[in-house]
Amino acid sequence: MHCPFCRNSDTKVLDSRVAEDGASIRRRRACLGCEQRFTTVEQMQLTVVKRSGASEPFNREKAIAGVRKACKGRPVSTDELACLGQQVEDALRASGSAEFPAHQVGLAILGPLRELDEVAYLRFASVYRSFESAADFEAEIALLRLDREAAAAAEGSDTKSVGAPGQHRERATSATSG
Ligand SMILES: [Zn+2]
Repeated sequence: MHCPFCRNSDTKVLDSRVAEDGASIRRRRACLGCEQRFTTVEQMQLTVVKRSGASEPFNREKAIAGVRKACKGRPVSTDELACLGQQVEDALRASGSAEFPAHQVGLAILGPLRELDEVAYLRFASVYRSFESAADFEAEIALLRLDREAAAAAEGSDTKSVGAPGQHRERATSATSG
């Protein structure tokens, strides 16, 4: 890596620190030419292996291109899309692997997208999971409903565990009329 000040390629590492999440390393460097100091961040390169067997570096923009299409006409902001891209990358990094089949990237998108917008989620899922009929949509919508009901049932309990069974609680309903 060139010195950002004088382009000299000889630099000396003064200090290396692993980031808190363990996913990157920061290096404090000094240029041997101009003696200026700067910091570099080293991250694991995520690689996506396509169905053809070809691999390419993970690209956040590219990864959410399909999501962007699915969100067309939906109230999803550019910031929210960027945030989703970040969530997907974080999830992939958190898995601890460096290489992923392309479908795993799609899988990592489904969860956060469902939180973001259910219509966009259904559009994306229909492409990703190659829905073939209306019945496929019905089945997916039924799942969405079940999860929503489970979430509503778990609401108010101290520990919020998503998708955990046996979270149903009886709630006393007080009739307030007038
Ligand atoms: Zn320099």
